[in-house]
Amino acid sequence: MRTLYVAEYPAIQHRHDNGDVVTVRLKRREGGFRATCEGCETEFIYRKPAPSPIAHFKSPLLPPIKGNWDGGDDDH
Ligand SMILES: [Zn+2]
Repeated sequence: MRTLYVAEYPAIQHRHDNGDVVTVRLKRREGGFRATCEGCETEFIYRKPAPSPIAHFKSPLLPPIKGNWDGGDDDH
């Protein structure tokens, strides 16, 4: 039995070697969502998509001054 981590929920579609597209549904089990496919002996474990490696937060080099980010609001 091999293990595959997936980021889809609640159903996993995958293809078998014979070309069949098989759908398995994840079920809550042991603190996570899992599905087992007997056909290809694979256990699918749901894992939340990893956070983007690119930082989206504001630059720490700039001071957090209010009004610095909401453009068009110069009425302070
Ligand atoms: Zn399968």
